[in-house]
Amino acid sequence: MKPLCLIPWTSIDISPRGTIAPCCKFQNKNYDSLNINKNTISQYASSDYLNTIKQEMLNGEWPEGCIRCRIEEESNIKSKRILDYERWPEEFDNYTPEMGFIIASIAFGNTCNLKCITCHGSASSRWRKEYKELYGIDVPHNEFIPETCDDIFNALPNAIHFDIPGGEPFLSEVDKQLDLLKRYIDSGQSKNMSLHYTTNAQIYPEDKWWALWENFKEIDMQLSIDGIYDRYEYIRYPGKFEILEKNIQKYISKEQKLDNFRLSVSHTVSAYNIYYLDEFFNWCNEMGLPKPWCGRVHNPSHMRPCVYKKEIREEIADYLNKSAIKDVNAWANYMLKNDSSEYYKTFLTMKDKHDNYRNTSFATIFPEMEKLIND
Ligand code: SF4
Repeated sequence: MKPLCLIPWTSIDISPRGTIAPCCKFQNKNYDSLNINKNTISQYASSDYLNTIKQEMLNGEWPEGCIRCRIEEESNIKSKRILDYERWPEEFDNYTPEMGFIIASIAFGNTCNLKCITCHGSASSRWRKEYKELYGIDVPHNEFIPETCDDIFNALPNAIHFDIPGGEPFLSEVDKQLDLLKRYIDSGQSKNMSLHYTTNAQIYPEDKWWALWENFKEIDMQLSIDGIYDRYEYIRYPGKFEILEKNIQKYISKEQKLDNFRLSVSHTVSAYNIYYLDEFFNWCNEMGLPKPWCGRVHNPSHMRPCVYKKEIREEIADYLNKSAIKDVNAWANYMLKNDSSEYYKTFLTMKDKHDNYRNTSFATIFPEMEKLIND
């Protein structure tokens, strides 16, 4: 019988804290999940945890951890389950379990040079001190790949795609990442593989990366950019906009020269930058960057774009609706239909605490939002 979702067979996700799951959308909260710090991938592959999920899929039942896909599909939104099928139809149709996992998302730890305001201690080592002092939660620095990358290579000899999120991928376990790429080049599999990196673009990859990437089918470099000029530096603290712009130019020139290299942009929409979407889309266009992919902050919940009280959300929606860009107008709709205002007070408190801690000023950098809050 065809399973409800094939991803528990085809794919594996290792989070910046080392938790192993079928995919990044899977909610591990109520599971006895495994961690790469203590378990091998082959232990994961034969675990009761994964076997139970697979059995539920074979029974045509939604596992509890798949709630995000289930809710999205009930709201007629394309879930990861659907999007992955659409992206790799042939590979999924021809998949057999003997192939092992063929798709992986592996954060090689949480080492990061930034502490973006909408991020948290789990995903960035730079956050550790501030997170502990302001939220009382200590998240240790985490790099976790075993001595060599054998475990990964052996579990994914037929890999077709890797996502490498952060931390910052060009700071986390770099030598081991490079070793892994060499393994795929030596086996000949690299020519069938695409690699998707999510980088904050404050670090430009050295030549050794480019020399290896030549051997892969496709490299998609996704730059995470959450604002421009002062707003970039406030949100992607303590990143420098000048460095970002220089690195973008270098990436654009690589994209023009290399057939297997392409750039993309991700923009995390939050309580801080929702109002400024129009200026961001226009800036991407002026820079010669592709249209940004916009995701929204879910956690921390007090930084969600819809955290504002109704009147402010309506004002923001009115403003977004004036944009000539359809994607921006769509966020107006989002602001009218979603309400996380139960976290509004926490947002106000925490924004001030972060400002005090970092010596930054929300009121100066986001004057339009400050006015809406105070009116
Ligand atoms: S249904 Fe969704 S959450 Fe569950 S394994 Fe498939 S893609 Fe992941």
